Amino acid sequence: MARKIGPNCKLCRQEGMKLFLKGRRCYSEKCVLVRRDYGPGVRRKRPKKLSAYGLRLREKQKVKKIYGVMEKQFRRYFKEAKRLKGMTGENLLLLLERRLDNIIFRLGFSLTRAGARQLVQHGHFLVNGRKVDIPSYSCKVGDEISLRSRSREIIGVKEAMKLSQDREKAPWLEIDQENFKGKVVRLPKKEEIALPIQEQLIVEYYSR
Ligand code: SF4
Repeated sequence: MARKIGPNCKLCRQEGMKLFLKGRRCYSEKCVLVRRDYGPGVRRKRPKKLSAYGLRLREKQKVKKIYGVMEKQFRRYFKEAKRLKGMTGENLLLLLERRLDNIIFRLGFSLTRAGARQLVQHGHFLVNGRKVDIPSYSCKVGDEISLRSRSREIIGVKEAMKLSQDREKAPWLEIDQENFKGKVVRLPKKEEIALPIQEQLIVEYYSR
């Protein structure tokens, strides 16, 4: 399975904003963007002005980086979003939000989506009582996601659960930290996704 490798902070600097790819460090003074709020490479006196194409491309790249999805898979999501009823851009975000790794991150079992992805791949989670080790698994309303009992002592999970108590909760998910589980009670609304994304630019990018 293809996945992105390389320095995460560079990705944030490319986009000029925090993408929260490194967990605890992202919320601290150690975040690279706090010290170097300019793009990677030679420092320019004036920021580079993007063309209309560049703006759309950057928006697409940003969303891919946030959810940790590669180009081929992202295109598939876009095709599926176009096929569904409603606004393509919103459908696209909805499909990404329904990914199992994203839901585990939102439930607070991991500090990053990349960490959640690894936990899923290692078979630590059950969906409706059955092991699912596919990070892109698309969760449905009513699905119950739980951490396997033998995985409850993982230090990273314990730490993430503790820190996530201060994080904003996703209103479309029911979280039961005591029993290490959560439930998808409904699908999210666009405004609940709480990410600085202009999905219309992505639609325009693929509609060229
Ligand atoms: Fe991005 Fe800062 Fe986290 Fe690095 S530490 S991944 S720059 S938010």
